[in-house]
Amino acid sequence: MDEWNSDAVISTAKKLSSYRLCDSCLGRQFATVSHGMSNEERGAIIRQLLGLEKVEVEECWLCGGMMGELGKFAEMVVEAMEKYEYETFLVGSRVEKEITAKEDEILSLTEYGESIKREINREVGKLVSASTGKEVDFIRPHITAIINTQYDDIELDIRPLYIYGRYRKLIRGIPQTKWPCRKCNGIGCEYCHGTGKMYEESVEEIIAKRAVEIAEGGEEYFHGAGREDIDVLMLGNGRPFILEIREPRRRKIDLSDLQKEINSFGKGKVEVSELRFAEKKEIEKLKAMKATKTYRVIISFEKGKN
Ligand SMILES: [Zn+2]
Ligand SMILES: [Zn+2]
Repeated sequence: MDEWNSDAVISTAKKLSSYRLCDSCLGRQFATVSHGMSNEERGAIIRQLLGLEKVEVEECWLCGGMMGELGKFAEMVVEAMEKYEYETFLVGSRVEKEITAKEDEILSLTEYGESIKREINREVGKLVSASTGKEVDFIRPHITAIINTQYDDIELDIRPLYIYGRYRKLIRGIPQTKWPCRKCNGIGCEYCHGTGKMYEESVEEIIAKRAVEIAEGGEEYFHGAGREDIDVLMLGNGRPFILEIREPRRRKIDLSDLQKEINSFGKGKVEVSELRFAEKKEIEKLKAMKATKTYRVIISFEKGKN
């Protein structure tokens, strides 16, 4: 407890004592003084050191009761994420300007403080983790949940699924990617017979259809390592691609099952192999890849006249 009794800590506490702060908001101004305890506990220590009376959270000048709502925020986050499959998550927050402005004022009086957002993110993260058994991941979480404290609203950022594979195109006449109708730009018109597309199907659509259905995803994006013309085949061991599926509700997907599904759906047209999960950063590498191609050319000569 000696760290709390230093002159510097006491004099900072005295400067802050004119503000009516709940234990969390008081303790947060001393977040770096001692480890292994919550800001609420830190606040109680400071209060006892100075003999201050306890301020109920609803009466708090800084948070106005918000620090008493962390359990509610955690429940809202859990509920919002429920319909998605995930193993890792991260909590973020947007706090009303009124509070952050007051916080700036107070943080200028202490050298030990941390921001209220940081505390909300950490404490709500702990509560969500305890109730779901899922883990906080700061680098690449499956879901990031942003709490808007002013409107009691949760916004989710779902990490897309990236599936790498190689495809072979077994027939001519289908483009690599979706090709919107050039007259209506995808809306559907007489020219495209209401399909909105220049071509009935594409390598992209044949590969993506079952994948999006199984992942219960939203939009998909097809990233190919280069492209081939509509009227050529893609044989050999195939062209590498990454299929990106946005907002997937399922991410534990059996890729060998998916490969079978895609190949039976694309039978005689498109065939995929080597499916595996990929990372976003691989897309750039894939795009920059220089594929070596082998063309078969038949040349006929006129008979020499010499
Ligand atoms: Zn407070
Ligand atoms: Zn059209």
